[in-house]
Amino acid sequence: MFEKILIANRGEIALRIHRACRELGIQTVAVHSTADADAMHVRLADESVCIGPPPARQSYLNVAALLTAADITGADAIHPGVGFLSESADFAAMVQEHGFTWIGPSPEHIRIMGDKITAKQAVMKLGIPTVPGSAESLTDDEEAVSLANEIGYPVLVKATGGGGGKGMKIARNEAELRAALPLARSEAKAFFNNDAVFLEKFLERPRHIELQILGDGQGHVVHLGERDCSLQRRHQKLLEEAPSPALNAAARQEIGDIAVKAMLDFGYASAGTLEFLYEDGKFYFIEMNTRLQVEHPVTEWITGIDLVREQIKIAAGAALSFRQEDIRLHGHAIEVRINAENPDTFAPSPGLITDYHAPGGPGVRVDSGLFSGYRVPSHYDSLVSKLIVHGATRNECLMRLRRALEEYVISGIETTIPLHRRLIQSPDFLNGDYDIHWLERLMEDDRTRV
Ligand code: ADP
Repeated sequence: MFEKILIANRGEIALRIHRACRELGIQTVAVHSTADADAMHVRLADESVCIGPPPARQSYLNVAALLTAADITGADAIHPGVGFLSESADFAAMVQEHGFTWIGPSPEHIRIMGDKITAKQAVMKLGIPTVPGSAESLTDDEEAVSLANEIGYPVLVKATGGGGGKGMKIARNEAELRAALPLARSEAKAFFNNDAVFLEKFLERPRHIELQILGDGQGHVVHLGERDCSLQRRHQKLLEEAPSPALNAAARQEIGDIAVKAMLDFGYASAGTLEFLYEDGKFYFIEMNTRLQVEHPVTEWITGIDLVREQIKIAAGAALSFRQEDIRLHGHAIEVRINAENPDTFAPSPGLITDYHAPGGPGVRVDSGLFSGYRVPSHYDSLVSKLIVHGATRNECLMRLRRALEEYVISGIETTIPLHRRLIQSPDFLNGDYDIHWLERLMEDDRTRV
């Protein structure tokens, strides 16, 4: 097992990884920008290294500074967390070339899955169902138009290198498609430095259902059930639950069997997530995330498996200590993402936390680096806390979530807590009856009513 791990991240996810390390008896090294010198992930770590000024490009994305920090502290391994360099195949390869262990899948697997086209081609070969559309990048508009006629409108123009819900355009007819293609290409070039785009059928009312996978690269792969992440705004997740209210045991087993077999053939080692859209009882692969997910705690709670601990053990060469038949799903878990944002306009709201009280009691987990007197910097992602609740049933879980959201006090900045308090009162949400476009329809209704 490792003696010391460098955590190449910040905020709640750096803390989360620190906690798993401490429980395994592993020392931790935190890295931080000058804006994060007082952050909780720095305070709790055994050692810390300042890796640069506030802009992420000069600190959390600064490969030379990260490798130097690992070197001078004598770390054995690097955990990238989520975001930043966690899906950089180049960084993973460099970590290995410098003699550190990379806590994640092989650079080769990261590379294949990091590009939406090569990912789609790979999973099609592995027998995973995908969304109807092209499996190659479209350079010719006429070719795109004839493909759209074949699969039927509406279609989605997607950037091959896209991520974080960015780089997608809907076209409802040929004129819209002809207008969207050049726009999508130039945006993709500007955002992702890759102007390749492809076409997919736009699904009107799907749910976003993703499957958590663990593989050890030694002939064992298991799935830990699904997460339903259909509550989204601008293709970004706001709330996640497990199990999905829309899936029964037979559907879970069907997609689980397909995914496990595919990942075995692929030789996948580490934690990973296969993301699907689910409509009319059918699954359509959209992408694979070759890393930990922000919403991993809901899976941890219903399975009792610590995903970060498993990632670390697998990277250290251990085989999985359980089999598919050992995995049981218990109760229901929901995570809400609490962002430092105005709850109506979603404008960022960094600043000083003047008062802080986290909820507690049975079935409540808070993953957050916040405390009273902490200043939320303006340079990074606005996610400041994850509130996760568990109950024996979905109803119990919902009542608990309502109670926990009532207790939660974060003063001095605006957060999305009021939005969550409102959303979980909605009858559609209470019934589990929502799809990926539901929140936007609801907010549109609110606006027309005002
Ligand atoms: P990203 O890498 O940016 O997260 P994804 O391909 O994972 O992109 O898609 C993100 C979200 O966009 C999905 O959760 C879903 O809400 C929406 N989306 C993606 N593909 C489609 C599609 N074919 N039809 C409808 N919505 C889609």
